[in-house]
Parts: sequence; C-alpha cells; structure tokens
Amino acid sequence: MKLLLIHCWNENEKSYRNRFSSLFAYPSLTLPTIYSLIPKNAFSKIDTIDENSQQVLYDKEKYDLVLLSFETSSCQTAYKHCREFKKRGTYTACGGYHATALPDEVAMHCDTVISGPAEISLPQFINDFINGNPKRFYRNDNVCSAMYRIPARDKITEKKKLKIPAVIANRGCNNSCKYCSMRTMWKSDPRPVEDVVNELKALNSKMVVFYDPNFFGDREYAISLLNAIKPLKILWAADATVSFGYDDELMQLAYKSGCRAVLVGFESFSAQSLASATKHSNKPDKYKGVIDNIHSHGIAVNGCFVLGFDHDTEEELIKIPQYIDYLGLDLCRFAILTPYPGTEFYEEYKKSGRIITDDWSRYTQNYAVFQPKNMTPERLEEIYMRVWKEAFKWRRVFKRTFHSVWRKKPYVFVLLGANIGFKFLGIDKRNKK
Ligand code: SF4
Repeated sequence: MKLLLIHCWNENEKSYRNRFSSLFAYPSLTLPTIYSLIPKNAFSKIDTIDENSQQVLYDKEKYDLVLLSFETSSCQTAYKHCREFKKRGTYTACGGYHATALPDEVAMHCDTVISGPAEISLPQFINDFINGNPKRFYRNDNVCSAMYRIPARDKITEKKKLKIPAVIANRGCNNSCKYCSMRTMWKSDPRPVEDVVNELKALNSKMVVFYDPNFFGDREYAISLLNAIKPLKILWAADATVSFGYDDELMQLAYKSGCRAVLVGFESFSAQSLASATKHSNKPDKYKGVIDNIHSHGIAVNGCFVLGFDHDTEEELIKIPQYIDYLGLDLCRFAILTPYPGTEFYEEYKKSGRIITDDWSRYTQNYAVFQPKNMTPERLEEIYMRVWKEAFKWRRVFKRTFHSVWRKKPYVFVLLGANIGFKFLGIDKRNKK
C-alpha cells in the first residue's frame, strides 16, 4: 500500500513561497514528525509533499491513503486536495490545528479526522485503516513528552529552505493568551533533557532553532536544558516572553549555552490591549529596558507585534516603525490580530457578532477578519501594509543590522539576510492584496 503525506499551504498565500523570502524559511517539523509516527512496514511506499515548496500532482501516482495536515488558512486548499484524491479512489484523512478546532467541518471533506496530538491517534488510525476498519474521528490527548519521536528529517525532501535544523524541547506553554491557537493543541510537557541533547548531537549542526512556543516558560527545566546544551557548542535561537528580559541569571546562562537570538512577542504598545488578551507579562513602558537588558547579554531580539486590538488607534499603530527604531530591535515582524477558531478570542468575537468572514483562506494574519473597534477593517489592513513598508525601508534594514548586538560578529550577515528576507516577506504580503 502507498501513502502520501501532505503539509498543505493556502494557495492564495504567497508569503514564504516567493523569491527571497522562501530562502529564509526554517524547515517545518510537521511532515518529519508525522512520518516518525507511521508504524514501520505499514506501507510499501511513503511520499511527502510540503506545499511550501512542492506541488501536489493528483495523477502522478495512485495512493491508497493521503494524510493531510493543515492550519485554518490552508483548509480550503486541503479540501480541494481531498475532493481530487477521493475522485481517484484514494482514502483521505486530515489532522492539524483546524481539524482540532472544527472536526465536524473537516469531516464533511474527508473520510477520517484526527484531532489533537497525533502520537496515539495516528498509529491507531493507520492500524485500523490497514485492517479495513477506519473510524470517522480520532482524538486522544493522553500523550506525554516521552512519546515524542525524533522527527524523520532524512525522509523529507525540502527545497528552498534554510539549512538550520529545528528542534522542539517543549511544544506547550503554561500561559493563557486569549488569541493563542497553540494552546488548543498542546499542553506544557517538556521532553527529558537527555532526549533533547541526544537529538541535538545527532543533528551535528553548528546552528539550531528551537520551535518551542515559550522556551524559557518552565524556568527550572530551561536551566537544566541550558546546562546540558552548553558543552555542545552550538549557536541557537528560540521564542521567549518579555519575562526573559528581567531574568539576568537565565540570560547569562542562555548566552553561555549558545543562545544568540530570541523572538519575543511584544504584541502591542497598549497596556489595555495586552490586558484584554491576558498577556500579563508585557508592560509597554518596560520594553526598552527589557531589550537593552537582553542585548547587554549578547542576545539579539526579534520583536513581534499584532495590530488590531480593541484599544489600538490609527494614530498609535502608524507610529510602530518609529517605536521600533527607539527600542533598537534587531528584527521585527507584524501580524493582524486573527481570532482563530478554537481560541477564546474567536468565541468572544463570534458571540458579539464581530467576525466578518468565515472564509478561512483569509485567516492568514494579513487580513482583518473581524470588525476592529477603532477603525474599519480596510483601514486596519492599510495601516498594516504601511507599517511593514515603513519598518523595512532599506535605511532601517541596514541600521537595524549594523547597529545590532551582532554588528561585530561574523554571523551579522545572518541578521542582514533575515532583515532582507522579512522585507521581501512584507512585499509579498502587499503584492497579494
Ligand atoms: S506566551 Fe506565547 S505560546 Fe504562551 S499562550 Fe501566550 S502566545 Fe501562546
């Protein structure tokens, strides 16, 4: 029997697919992780397609089963694939964030829906499928980090991707930001430190990026991991919250273990907006101090901002590029607030009649899919594009890079590449409008 695994990508969404920007995309762990969960010898052939860089060709091969994983914005592309493969007599099964949030909707388009973490459900489904008795729905949340398999990276062909491998130590987070869709899927459950270290050793790479949504969230675990990583002499980057910037001991240890950059979700310059999203650790008047503090430990900061909270005004949003100059960030990126199905924000906005479209292909963080409080959806989108454009003017790209904490390091060109990559990512977003 033959199996095809697809990580679907919204066909209207060019970002990361075009020109330069695709060259700066980190490799996804979705397909390698799914691949690692397929019981051995269950299939005579397994092919994979990451739509980020590969095309789905329906008639290239006849598959017995196609497994599709996708986020909300890619679901319509996934549904099209399901229709086409079903026409050709192939069994279709879907999983991922959207299948977890809206299993009944997804079930209208495929034969089987696998919601939540896949560690138990997916092998169960494959066994049932092979025995000719697959069920319509699978969900089993009783997974623990010990079940985590090393992603089968060697089985996946990825084109146009950075050659820096990604690793996950803890895919969950204990915080409760109302807009976060990650919380709908995973709970905080760090992997045994030894397992992470063994995976890093096997990768044999001088640079690594951690995909943990909140790498330092479990402080005690982070300290054990940092101590264990230190002897490996790798350079790495990870996601952190603002709290990291107050913790000198953690920052020192992080630097010594090879941390050279963190991505921090500052999200907003409005204290009221942050409070409404239960992002309690963020205090806008402390951002400058936090960034200076992280820089003083030799670590660069990529700041992320979300536009469209209820307390955001046009005047304040337009000033974001100037605020970023003042903060001295090394890299930045932006998103329009997007209430994803399954999140508290979605429920709140739906109840109050503020969701203006259920066209999921627009849930890319580039469109206003809800009615903002202080401006029209169109105006929010306009300001969003303007903020990307202003923040990535060439003079800002060069200033951010060559005034950065990495300015005297040989890897400063990685930062230049990232700033240029993000500039083109912003242009991709504008071109698509
Ligand atoms: S801190 Fe980040 S990962 Fe954790 S709940 Fe908030 S947005 Fe999600």
